[in-house]
Amino acid sequence: MKILLVIPLSNYPQMHPAFLSNTDFPVGFAYIAAALKQAGHKVFGLNPNNDTRYESAQELLKARLIQSLIETNPHMIGLGGLSTDIHFIADAIQIIRSVRPHIPIVCGGGIITNDAEYVFKRLRPDFCIIGDAERALVQLVEMLEQGSALFDTIPNLGYWHEGHARFSPRLRNDEPVDSYPFPDYEPFDINSMLGEHALVTRYQYRYTRSHPVPMTLVAARGCPFRCSFCVNNDDKRYRFRSIGNIMDEIRVLYEKYHFNILIILDELFAVHRDRLQQFATALLEGRARYGWDFDWSFQTHASANIDQATLQLAKQAGCFFFSYGIESASPTVLASMNKRTQPEQIEAALKLAEQVQVGFGGNFIFGDPAETFQTALESLEFYKKHCLYAHVNVGSVHPYPGSRLFDYCLEQGIIADKSKYYDNIDQVSYNMTRLPQQEWVRLMTEIMQFTSQCGVPVVETQAARQDPGATERERHGNGNRSPWELIFNCPHCSHGIYTRMLLVNEEVLQAYASFVTGCPVCHKRFIVKAAASERPDLY
Ligand code: SF4
Repeated sequence: MKILLVIPLSNYPQMHPAFLSNTDFPVGFAYIAAALKQAGHKVFGLNPNNDTRYESAQELLKARLIQSLIETNPHMIGLGGLSTDIHFIADAIQIIRSVRPHIPIVCGGGIITNDAEYVFKRLRPDFCIIGDAERALVQLVEMLEQGSALFDTIPNLGYWHEGHARFSPRLRNDEPVDSYPFPDYEPFDINSMLGEHALVTRYQYRYTRSHPVPMTLVAARGCPFRCSFCVNNDDKRYRFRSIGNIMDEIRVLYEKYHFNILIILDELFAVHRDRLQQFATALLEGRARYGWDFDWSFQTHASANIDQATLQLAKQAGCFFFSYGIESASPTVLASMNKRTQPEQIEAALKLAEQVQVGFGGNFIFGDPAETFQTALESLEFYKKHCLYAHVNVGSVHPYPGSRLFDYCLEQGIIADKSKYYDNIDQVSYNMTRLPQQEWVRLMTEIMQFTSQCGVPVVETQAARQDPGATERERHGNGNRSPWELIFNCPHCSHGIYTRMLLVNEEVLQAYASFVTGCPVCHKRFIVKAAASERPDLY
């Protein structure tokens, strides 16, 4: 069977053009592609991101989707994404139905897993799959090929029967993740994400390399924690891959794509420091045996208890950055979030990162139901005291479907109408605190003002010129930005830095361009103000 998998446009339809680096590519699609190919099917991919030729996101989607349908003539179409991709998926279904009404459409990903019944009935694809889709989709394709309709025998499947939505029995997927084929990125325009669009990668993922080639890897599925705001509530089991299986994938990816940065995407990579030690030791062997030369980063939970020796070993193996979900420095809010961390653990991680000279990052998210002016003050004081030089950002808590917070908002009437919630997803903020609305608005405004005025060090460029080595596609394929070569000194350790950034030409020429970055030696954060100035002696 021929299957077309369609990747959502980032921030559709508000952001246009939408740029997507490989680090933000939804890896689930690559796993699905690999499973389908292994079962003997032909897979086509449509990744409409990074396309600057159209006036609007809607126009782009329509043109590219119809073109793909004509060129590939698929027997089935796979759509999916997160809850925030609902408008993209809705529009894609409508376009497909208008030109190819009889091709079955299957929908999956977090948008289904976290709110299957509502989303299935609202979007009305032909099928949906809850949770891991590798096996279920292959089974469904085979069933359709055979002309059978015993859909109830495929676990975790949504389908239509006489006009009514039906769901087959839910089954926990106990298959070892090692048994899945490695993700296959080939159908999804991987080379341009690694090439001319690599500089759209978030800076935390690439500040150690001026010519980043960023690759990603998923080392486990599931999470044993239950944070109230998190949508990873479907599977409390932590299903991790063996270190040998991970190394095999790295070897395949390295030979194929010659990446120089590896981002381990797991929210919880090292559930305990032993796993980090095993991973780092295996990487050191790989570096010695295969000449691997890449930097890597990971995220984990404070309870992993990473110590200095383990982080030192990780650094020796190329680790340049790690992050925790910080969320808050108020014990009251952390308890309300069921975060199971203490502010002291974050403080310890910041100190450890400084000792070992590895980058550290995380996010504060304000607005949990337990948030007050007092708890916010505790977090802001912590931020000011400990986080100015680390890669720590500030934002607000959102109640996404699948989280306990979303259920709380429905129960409390904070989200009064689910349909309107989805209509305006990510465009509206919800006051989940006990503060009156006006007070809450004042609190959130003051938080954002406080952090924007906080003293992250600023440095000016010594030289900035348009990169003479940039390819045509790099220059003209990134909207109003093009690659600039920049030279400056780290304001923390004085290390001389050469890097490349995508900047708006006019802003550099008029000397008001600025960006946040990190030092590849001390790994601390700072802001660079860029003004065009050639200084060929410095390059
Ligand atoms: S926020 Fe992180 S630690 Fe908490 S449940 Fe989600 S993935 Fe697990």
